[in-house]
Amino acid sequence: MLLQNWWYTTLLNSKTDYCPPLKEHMETDVLVVGAGMAGLHAALRLVEAGKNTVLVERNICGGSSTGKSAGFLTPDSELELHQILRRYGLEDGAKVWNIAVEGVKRVVANVTQYQMKCDLLEQDSLFVGLGKAGKKSVYEEAAAFQKIGYPTQVYEGAALKRINPGKGYMAGIRTGKTYAVNPLLYAQELKRILVQKGVRIYEGTPVTHMEGHKACTHMGSVTAKNIIFCIDKMRPTVSRISEQVYHAQTFLTISEPLDPNEIKQLFPEGDFMCWDSKLVYSYYRLTGDKRILLGGGSPLTTFLPLDVTSPTVIKRVIRDFKNRFPFLKHQEFMQYWPGRIDTTKDLVPIVTHDPKSPYIQYVLGCVGLPWATFCGDYAARKVLDPTLQSHDKFLRIDRPFFVPMPLQKLMGKMTAFSFNILYSKYFQKNRKRSA
Ligand SMILES: Cc1cc2nc3c(=O)[nH]c(=O)nc-3n(C[C@H](O)[C@H](O)[C@H](O)COP(=O)(O)OP(=O)(O)OC[C@H]3O[C@@H](n4cnc5c(N)ncnc54)[C@H](O)[C@@H]3O)c2cc1C
Repeated sequence: MLLQNWWYTTLLNSKTDYCPPLKEHMETDVLVVGAGMAGLHAALRLVEAGKNTVLVERNICGGSSTGKSAGFLTPDSELELHQILRRYGLEDGAKVWNIAVEGVKRVVANVTQYQMKCDLLEQDSLFVGLGKAGKKSVYEEAAAFQKIGYPTQVYEGAALKRINPGKGYMAGIRTGKTYAVNPLLYAQELKRILVQKGVRIYEGTPVTHMEGHKACTHMGSVTAKNIIFCIDKMRPTVSRISEQVYHAQTFLTISEPLDPNEIKQLFPEGDFMCWDSKLVYSYYRLTGDKRILLGGGSPLTTFLPLDVTSPTVIKRVIRDFKNRFPFLKHQEFMQYWPGRIDTTKDLVPIVTHDPKSPYIQYVLGCVGLPWATFCGDYAARKVLDPTLQSHDKFLRIDRPFFVPMPLQKLMGKMTAFSFNILYSKYFQKNRKRSA
């Protein structure tokens, strides 16, 4: 298996141009730093509102988490709906869920409006429960969906086998209005649209440090009235706020194309995106050119501070997958790649102003493409309307965390984040909080 991101291979068919690095000193209304899902959507909102906008990106647009992702476009993320409702209560929980729903809608609307070529597929989602605990999760999810009035269908026994013959699945819940996309092509297509609209974009241009309103890069600088940071793996040299984010590591692999018979066996009644109920879950879907995109991780590597590039973890994920679907035992997986997802301690993003430099905003720890889409857009809307606060209550930085900062300093980041994330996912309950 090659250590290579399949989405980069698919770029060879795309018609987007590289935007060369910044080599001058310039001024603008708004600078967006980082061109993942969050930064690209921030720039789109700003340019559509007539702002003079510059976007600088360390790699290529979409070159980090966004372009390494599996492209599942669903409101579901690391937090399941029943976990969100337990934590926020029904009314606020529905608002939090709608953040991701809005994110999905925005991406789909862009693809349609700008006729982007990014392999967007409408695919239902199927969350499958393993064992008794998994079955319980499925029913908890079903009850949560019912509470917010979202249509779903629950499957068990023979009915489940008819749509998903995987061994060991005890129950499944299916939701609609979800999509799959080639996330790197989407990012590159959005870059093309932004350039057409007048955004000045510089790829291969990391911001190294700030001097007041000036963002400095290797060979140039951008001075802006407002600055939005939408970057991952932030270093303390950019801002001490980097203490608020850590990462989780997961792996993906892509198969050779399946033939129609194999597809029929894997998805007897039509395809969908699927993930299971394990703590470190596995997930798979069919791409437009009929390959299996399969992802997963391991408890040991998820929160490791180091990048793991060996194929050991993904090979285990492939083996498990083949055990569940023995008719695919012969199937070759050609390429694999690891990726890190930035996260906050409670899995909900932070959108905040810098306390000392209020013209700077940070969008941090967006776990999921739809969340990043919404949060980048939200930060841009806050530039356009400084009184906007509609979602601050959920996204603010000064919300209480289970492991507070002084304790984090004692425990170390890896332990503090692991504990806090487990707490937020499985135990955190709704307590009345002030807005
Ligand atoms: C393997 C994997 C699979 C995933 N699968 C899914 C999925 O199926 N569905 C889903 O919803 N989510 C998925 N995710 C999560 C999703 O990819 C992220 O949550 C989302 O892309 C975050 O977007 P972002 O814009 O916040 O961050 P990023 O996409 O990481 O964007 C940040 C950008 O900032 C740039 N940058 C960093 N530092 C600097 C600097 N100093 N100067 C300039 N630029 C800088 C980076 O190069 C990067 O392009 C997956 C993630 C991984 C890793």
